[in-house]
Amino acid sequence: MGVLDNKIALVTGASRGIGKAIAERLARDGALVAVHYASNSEAAEKTVAGIVESGGSAFTVQAELGVPGDVDTLFDGLRAGLAEHTDRYELDILVNNAGEQTAAGLAPEDITPEAFDRLFAVNARAPLFITQRALTIVPEGGRIINISSGLTRFAVPEQLAYSMTKGALEQITLHYARHLAPRGITINTVAPGITDNGSPVFSIPEAREQMSQLSAFKRVGTAEEIAGVVAFLAGPDGGWTTGAFVDASGGTLLG
Ligand code: NDP
Repeated sequence: MGVLDNKIALVTGASRGIGKAIAERLARDGALVAVHYASNSEAAEKTVAGIVESGGSAFTVQAELGVPGDVDTLFDGLRAGLAEHTDRYELDILVNNAGEQTAAGLAPEDITPEAFDRLFAVNARAPLFITQRALTIVPEGGRIINISSGLTRFAVPEQLAYSMTKGALEQITLHYARHLAPRGITINTVAPGITDNGSPVFSIPEAREQMSQLSAFKRVGTAEEIAGVVAFLAGPDGGWTTGAFVDASGGTLLG
């Protein structure tokens, strides 16, 4: 018996990194999980295979976010995947995790309208319209979790444009929280600090050490630690928390 037995979850950007760990955790807790990805089908299939091998249920859903028709593609895939696994077309848990970042950042002087628009389309616009669409099939007791970043409260000039998108994402949490309370649906923000997402930079000792210094614990976070926070908000113990900004930065924001 898991705390999320009979629940259906959609985790965007779940082929790898933090989203993968969230999908694995929600599946371990009993949910049927839609593992969304953009282009890395191999990684997404691997995530699903791992979940199934561990006794869980999951399927992949492909949709490039930030392009016209993205929400339709996502929900068409969700509907098709659910039809193969359950007779319900509902969504109990939505995790807006997919996000893009310019790898080395962009100095304020170098932000272009094109780069800005792309970041907003993927990190802010897509989650808003995914949430709007999801809410047509989220029943009472549903949970929505938006993955932001500690960078909305920690100044890094090279992350100005990215952080603006996450600031916008946090507004989805705040305003929808009041709007959804009458339906018994919670919506919250989880803000990771630097988290090992399996990208090669985390294997470079000097880079890892430098990143570790930002946290009060002097290490980088693990994707599983973020997944644990999401699991709390998605589970029965999280029902009295809505509209919250949950710091999952390992004390990075303590200054
Ligand atoms: P990764 O880069 O490891 O994975 C990104 C995921 O999002 C992949 O599944 C990718 O799919 C998907 N994705 C990316 N762009 C798009 C797109 N345009 N359309 C659809 N899917 C897309 O990310 P992380 O695990 O590092 O980050 C997850 C979330 O956490 C993001 O929102 C990020 O901003 C946030 N965050 C991460 C931190 C960190 O240190 N890692 C710190 C703070 C916040 P595919 O595999 O197909 O490309």
